[in-house]
Amino acid sequence: MTSLFDLSGRTALITGSARGIGFALAEGLALAGARVILNGTRDDTVAAAARRLADQGLDARGRAFDVTDEQAVAAAFAQWDHDGVQIDIVINNAGIQFRKPLVELQLSDWQRVIDTNLTSAFIVAREAARRMIARGTGGKIINIGSLTSEAARATVGPYTAAKGGIKMLTRAMSAEWAASNIQANAIGPGYILTDMNQPLVDNLTFDAWVRSSNPSQRWGKPEELVGTAVYLASAASSYVNGQIIYVDGGWLAVL
Ligand code: NDP
Repeated sequence: MTSLFDLSGRTALITGSARGIGFALAEGLALAGARVILNGTRDDTVAAAARRLADQGLDARGRAFDVTDEQAVAAAFAQWDHDGVQIDIVINNAGIQFRKPLVELQLSDWQRVIDTNLTSAFIVAREAARRMIARGTGGKIINIGSLTSEAARATVGPYTAAKGGIKMLTRAMSAEWAASNIQANAIGPGYILTDMNQPLVDNLTFDAWVRSSNPSQRWGKPEELVGTAVYLASAASSYVNGQIIYVDGGWLAVL
């Protein structure tokens, strides 16, 4: 049974993994046997995160690049081609939040949030899938959605549009790539304790609302997403395609 979830011999790129959910997922996949490539916007923090995993005896390396920069993403994949590194698993995790009512929102802020949370998943997965299809080896694409893939909240319009887009982009990837043995699925995390949500945790009213609106009555922890990520990255999900799995403590169930 454990071999179903074994990621030995697989290489996984996890975008936005210098900290937060991405770091927890990188650590989890590495503990399941994968070689992991960490990413973020800064060389120093990405290198430090990779070192934290390597110090545990895990197979980790880092590469900083901006996931919204098509040329930078292409250059990273070209370098891995040159080095003989084949990406078998991609987790499109990099994301940002920006809170403002729609009527006050500048187009540039809308664009930045859409580019980082949605367009980047297309740019990165496209590079990976081209190679998976050419190799004939198949692969795994895991896109990180959100509760806002399903339910809208005030002041996070572009984030909501982007994460709703992630759900449908995941289905579009399945429609085109499933025949090449690529499984594209998404994870929709609930309210998870990371830097992104620190302003919400510090807001006592919001913190109380998160607890009272969730049947689990608490925030989630990044490591609670690892089981779903390993499942979707492994042979255990070989006939699961185009799905989004919510890991939210039951929040959507009682909406
Ligand atoms: P954090 O803010 O803690 O971390 C975000 C990571 O993304 C950082 O490593 C950051 O890099 C990286 N990143 C941001 N922009 C870029 C970019 N242009 N190129 C490369 N890397 C980038 O976020 P979380 O861990 O909380 O969130 C991770 C994902 O999970 C996001 O997609 C988010 O939308 C999603 N999510 C989070 C939830 C939560 O409750 N926390 C709930 C639902 C979904 P750097 O370190 O260099 O800044």
